[in-house]
Amino acid sequence: MQSGKRVLVVEDEKKIAEVVVSYLKASVYAPYEASTGKEALELFAKLSPSLIILDLMLPDMTGEEICRRIRQSSPVPIIMLTAKVEEESILQGLDIGADDYVTKPFSPRQLMARVGAVLRRAGDDVLPPAARLSYHNDELIIDTVSHEVKKAGAIVNLTPNEFNILMALTKYPKKVFTRDELIELALGSDFEGYDRIIDTHIKNLRQKIETDSKNPVYILTVHGVGYRFGGE
Ligand code: CA
Repeated sequence: MQSGKRVLVVEDEKKIAEVVVSYLKASVYAPYEASTGKEALELFAKLSPSLIILDLMLPDMTGEEICRRIRQSSPVPIIMLTAKVEEESILQGLDIGADDYVTKPFSPRQLMARVGAVLRRAGDDVLPPAARLSYHNDELIIDTVSHEVKKAGAIVNLTPNEFNILMALTKYPKKVFTRDELIELALGSDFEGYDRIIDTHIKNLRQKIETDSKNPVYILTVHGVGYRFGGE
């Protein structure tokens, strides 16, 4: 089932790392450990893991910094482990490209459920009808098989969540989605997030695919309801 997917665990607290690693092994993943940011980036380059579990507070670098660096080259799913429970820092974590977060102390079983959910979402369970979607005379091109998105000829790196939200919107272009619907359709019904998480993802998506994110043409806000796709 899980076929030994490589999971990179970045955590400097030995006890937490041990627990996470043993649960990952029990769930038939292949875990690798890093206890510093430097180690994490080296292992990431070497392993190309399917998923990263990333502690926010590391001795040499913050999780945010690592996330930002990885996002420059890869859409690999990232789950942040954070001791900070404030909404603001959680949303900041998503802002810089994390796909989900778990606050400490957490139950390892809950973390494994998130790992499974994030990997499923990153996989090919959203299968739209056409392989190549094109809008506004090829200004925006979405390859639904390779998950490659191009804006004005340049490749845009979307996180798995951002890609899934974009897919959900393009699949039903006339539909106005509520935030709850987008959470369920794009992020999975087991996602216990707040509405504002969708807004954060939308904001990031707009920055990546809109020419002017203040005057979007692809992802339109429908006031009082939610969002709809505006590409033609
Ligand atoms: Ca730590």
